[in-house]
Amino acid sequence: MKSFLKLKKNWFALLSILIAAAASWGVSLQFRQMLAREKLFPAPSLTQVLHLHDYHPALKGTHGDTKIYRFEGKEPGGKVLLLGGTHPNEPAGYMSAYLMIENVQVARGTLYIIPRANNSAFTHTDPQEGNPQFFTIRGKKGLRKFRYGSRDTNPIDQWPDPDIYLHYPSGQELAGNETRNLNRNYPGRPDGTFTEQVAYAIVKFIQSEKIDLAFDLHEASPEYPVVNAIVSSESSQDIATEAALELAFEDLHYSLEPSPYNFRGLSHREWENYTDALPILMETANPIQGRLRGKTDARLILTGWDKMYLKAAKLGVLSVPYDSSGLPLKVRVGRHIEAFQKIVEIFSRDHPDKAVRILNLPSYSELMEKGIEEFF
Ligand SMILES: [Zn+2]
Repeated sequence: MKSFLKLKKNWFALLSILIAAAASWGVSLQFRQMLAREKLFPAPSLTQVLHLHDYHPALKGTHGDTKIYRFEGKEPGGKVLLLGGTHPNEPAGYMSAYLMIENVQVARGTLYIIPRANNSAFTHTDPQEGNPQFFTIRGKKGLRKFRYGSRDTNPIDQWPDPDIYLHYPSGQELAGNETRNLNRNYPGRPDGTFTEQVAYAIVKFIQSEKIDLAFDLHEASPEYPVVNAIVSSESSQDIATEAALELAFEDLHYSLEPSPYNFRGLSHREWENYTDALPILMETANPIQGRLRGKTDARLILTGWDKMYLKAAKLGVLSVPYDSSGLPLKVRVGRHIEAFQKIVEIFSRDHPDKAVRILNLPSYSELMEKGIEEFF
């Protein structure tokens, strides 16, 4: 009887271990999915794929390493950089970068695209926000699944946060979690925190490749004051102003925001201070990032439709027009791609020796007509 009970106990223990192992296996599979990168189908004109570790070897094998897609035209010209995914919870930024990678053709000059600037921030989502982890689009190449990430570097790559984050080298004080925000870490340093090292590698890349014009694509909540905006620094404000005027003729309205001198660590401020590139940052309005939003799901990323925002618009508390058509992803990507093309065109007009000619990207109206599905 005793040995029978012992056997029963052992079986029970074994079964418990097996159940726990199966559950852990399931969870680990789900966890690994967070680290997977989307499969992209670069346009045939892709010349080369570089990595951030080519500019800062310490990033090799870490979540901070990321791909740099290089498209070089037959004719020599200037060099343009486009960054998406500085904040992976702002999908219009990296979806614009992906769309360009899969469709662009460069006739003159060189275009570099880094679609996942803070790759680590793509590997998790912000806690307590109820954010979806993925969203899908049925494109021409099939069902495409894209990641929705976080604003900041994953704590598995940089932890713990200090109480107060001191920006290097200015010593500016910011909230502790901003230590993991790539767009507060420029110009970075080679022996700094994980995020400082990513920022350092990007600045090193801009310096080494002698980039002439550099874009950083973002989104923000519709109630945030800097939205539907082009942010420029001292060296890029003429181009930005000209672009905003010409875009207004197309009925696309952008506010012009100067890069503040004393707000340190941002791409436009530090690329201005530490590189020769003309920096441009652009923002579209995205309801899933807003505090007024209701149901938070993958649908909201694609449609930008939320009845709470319609109410907010009627109360006059939003910084952008908002009606029953919402703020679909195609509108936000369309604004980024149209303004990007306009700014490159103006830069090329003003600097004929460094002209860059980019082909095969849709216009805003083409995106409205066909949808982004047509380009994936
Ligand atoms: Zn952002």
